[in-house]
Amino acid sequence: MTQTDRRRFIPRTDHLLSLPAVQSAREHHGEHVIRSVIQATQERARRGEIGPEEVSEVIAAALQTRRATTLRPVLNATGVVVHTNLGRAPLSPNAVDALVAASGYVDVELDLTTGARSRRGVAAREALLAACPAAEDALVVNNGAAALVLATTALAAGREVVVSRGELIEIGAGFRLPDLIASTGARLREVGTTNRTHFRDYADAVGPETGCLLKVHPSNFRVDGFTASVSLDELRQIRGVPIVADLGSGLLAPDPLLPDEPDAATALTSGADVVTASGDKLLGGPQAGIVLGRTDVVGRMARHPLARAVRTDKLALAALEATVAGGPAPVVQALHADPDRLRVRAERIADAVGASVVPHDGRVGGGGAPGVPLPGWAVRLPEEAARRLRLGDPAVLPRVHDGACLIDVRCVPEADDDRLLRAVEAALKH
Ligand SMILES: *Cc1c(COP(=O)(O)O)cnc(C)c1O
Repeated sequence: MTQTDRRRFIPRTDHLLSLPAVQSAREHHGEHVIRSVIQATQERARRGEIGPEEVSEVIAAALQTRRATTLRPVLNATGVVVHTNLGRAPLSPNAVDALVAASGYVDVELDLTTGARSRRGVAAREALLAACPAAEDALVVNNGAAALVLATTALAAGREVVVSRGELIEIGAGFRLPDLIASTGARLREVGTTNRTHFRDYADAVGPETGCLLKVHPSNFRVDGFTASVSLDELRQIRGVPIVADLGSGLLAPDPLLPDEPDAATALTSGADVVTASGDKLLGGPQAGIVLGRTDVVGRMARHPLARAVRTDKLALAALEATVAGGPAPVVQALHADPDRLRVRAERIADAVGASVVPHDGRVGGGGAPGVPLPGWAVRLPEEAARRLRLGDPAVLPRVHDGACLIDVRCVPEADDDRLLRAVEAALKH
């Protein structure tokens, strides 16, 4: 039989739509998804990739294994703890439970005792205030950039934001803080130079037009050498102007491992009136923008109309509460992993596949603590293994460096070591 003849036996769409396996798939998949699976399979049969008699089976299998999201979970074997391309912080089991609990109807904006409407996100706010007693009030918005935009809009729209030229940073993917601030209608009043800014630069710039002073943590680069900047402690001597500190990373308290990373408690006790930070960097929670600070300043931000446009969804509020109130988040565990333990884990995988283990420095990532190496170990594999690992099941993202494929176990939960080993074995077999 020729290919053209065989094509006549490809089942028709109406027949395929009535198959029991397709009928029951309607519980999980939309009609357009089912039809596109059917069409794609008929197309494969027309091209001769599968026989006409296989079409029903292939469709049933495709619908059976199709997941609710096509996002694929990835084992992060790069050693980069906050990996932007992998969605930054992985959530703790507690935070995942909270997500599920909040996924239906929940009392996110309701007082069940009175039946009346309540302030949105009370629980996340209280968790943040308990974890950072230096703050009088807290507000959660969509992300760190939104927190900063809300701060400059509420405090300085139509007026000036005084900021050092050494802190006008690009936060990644071409987004620049000066552009972001200018888009709010506030005018940037740049002071000092790239490497040196002094107290009198700020003092001279402050006047009736000043909406706020802004200190930005230059999180993703370092200026070494002939430098000077002004601390919050000094800035607080300038009275009558709110001081906003954009911390970036989201540490609530100091971490001795990252001495140069600012934290909310220290910034607030040093003189910041309000701090802004991300929820999904070193805090280790969901994407969110955290605002902590004085009641009057946080209140001005919460009451501004823009606050409604950047409000957080209930899922993020639930996961954030669980992260802040819970034990060390996965990000914190990966950051503080014991190098000896990492070596034992790497050696077990290396021994099983006849590879070697090499010293390997992990990184904080996410634009945080750029100069800080996290000493650890990696399994060294041939470079070709990288592509097969990425496309394997589970997908594994290794680091490709210096002609080698490096598997750093720092950010892989220890409970996943066996899955990682099987993925490595499969990638080496090919
Ligand atoms: C990451 C970062 C931001 C942006 O926060 P997102 O949560 O990514 O929106 C703003 N400022 C600084 C200093 C940062 O490091």
